[in-house]
Amino acid sequence: MTAPADSPAETIDTLIVGGGMAGLAVAWNLLRRAPDRRVLLVEAEGRVGGNVRTVRHEGSVVDLGPDVLVARDAGTLEVCEALGVAMVRPSAAVRCVQVVRKGRISKMPEGLVLGVPRDFGALATTPLVSLRGKLRAACDLLMPPRSTDGLSLGQIVERRLGREVKDVLVEPLVAGMHGGDLDRLETDAVFPQLSGVGGSVIRALASTRGAQPPSLRAPGGGMQALVNALARALGDRVVRGRRTVALARQPDGFRASFADGGSVRARTVVVATPPPETAALLGPIAAELGDVLRQVVMRSSTSVVLGFGRGDVSLPEGSGLLVPRIEGAAFPSITFVHAKWPTRVRDDLAVVRAVVDPSRAPDVVTGDDDALIEAVLRELRRFVKLGEPRWAAIQRFPYASAVAEVGHRARVREARERAASLGGGGGGGALHLAGAAFDGPGIAGVLDGGKKLAEALTA
Ligand SMILES: Cc1cc2nc3c(=O)[nH]c(=O)nc-3n(C[C@H](O)[C@H](O)[C@H](O)COP(=O)(O)OP(=O)(O)OC[C@H]3O[C@@H](n4cnc5c(N)ncnc54)[C@H](O)[C@@H]3O)c2cc1C
Repeated sequence: MTAPADSPAETIDTLIVGGGMAGLAVAWNLLRRAPDRRVLLVEAEGRVGGNVRTVRHEGSVVDLGPDVLVARDAGTLEVCEALGVAMVRPSAAVRCVQVVRKGRISKMPEGLVLGVPRDFGALATTPLVSLRGKLRAACDLLMPPRSTDGLSLGQIVERRLGREVKDVLVEPLVAGMHGGDLDRLETDAVFPQLSGVGGSVIRALASTRGAQPPSLRAPGGGMQALVNALARALGDRVVRGRRTVALARQPDGFRASFADGGSVRARTVVVATPPPETAALLGPIAAELGDVLRQVVMRSSTSVVLGFGRGDVSLPEGSGLLVPRIEGAAFPSITFVHAKWPTRVRDDLAVVRAVVDPSRAPDVVTGDDDALIEAVLRELRRFVKLGEPRWAAIQRFPYASAVAEVGHRARVREARERAASLGGGGGGGALHLAGAAFDGPGIAGVLDGGKKLAEALTA
């Protein structure tokens, strides 16, 4: 069924605003369960996918945005299977995690969970932590329990294991994944295994020994392949280049107005845009909801990817490096794309990716592209040997992700509840919020969230 692109007199069933992975996942799951629903997805840009950006250079397939799906169970991969998107695993090189410490590179000890040891022995021989740091970490096993109410993850880890383990082992892993400052991140959101743990964190994690690690997968053709498959399946229910500028309540739902002057009426609206955009759309009809959404902390980031001749680089073992914030670099990690995804890069090429975090180096990202490439190259050369790049690709993400600072889960819960209670002007219709800020932080979260929301909408 073709959904009306511009028919204010007609009311469709569901309008989805935002064509990132979240909006696409909601639409696809909805149509899978209820193929006759009149569903329309409107995306502001001329392309769908949002943060997903796969580019090709000299035959190499490179993701500038998300490059791996961290699936906790088979349900997450259901959509890929149903759409026939062939998934690949990263190479075994990802198991070798290397960390920079005072400019030197050493392997992350094995058996840690997000940098926190499950037994003290894991720390014993690593050169990454000093003897003093190790002795301090051992105090975790002796210190009495204390309440952790209101404490951030960084505060808990520092209290139990000391500053050095926090800065060198935990910070680079957690910050690389969640962004932001460890001392402000919410434990429940980023490290649920430590939620409510007031005593030894080493003992608390010991029980997770033997647990299956999440499976890492990605479409062989890069993350854009999944976006393209979703968009193909949705057909003309996806409208690109149509920015939603306002939502108004109607007796039986909502009316969405677009920047091009058109509008659509829908009984149910799912807003799958980053919280600041969602606040701009919903603030005028629900001031308190707008206020809550504006409190969600967002971060930006900039990907810089550089292509080299394989002979022009000398890189350590593994698929990249973690760079703790205390090293003073602009990025929390470096990925050797050719080592992580060998089938995507020609044998004679090496591809290096750094995702610059502006909170670490505000000056680096404000310059023009040439200055940015120069600055990133200079910083990369502090850690690895690189010749002159053959090509460079840059992508700036103004809304890279929401940062799960203390209170984040309560804020997004409140926003969702306020949205769900809004309804249309006459009580009909429903409004829902989707996206990585609510279900994320990653692709797996928004795929699972899209499925759950579609189930609720078709129940
Ligand atoms: C550099 C980087 C690396 C990452 N790496 C990983 C990774 O390896 N694995 C992982 O799982 N996750 C990763 N992530 C996170 C992942 O990208 C996000 O979880 C996911 O893409 C968010 O999808 P989304 O649909 O919620 O938001 P978005 O991708 O931001 O999509 C929102 C969409 O809404 C549209 N929109 C905004 N306003 C309007 C409007 N008014 N009207 C219509 N449309 C509008 C936007 O144009 C956009 O297309 C990474 C993110 C970045 C930036």
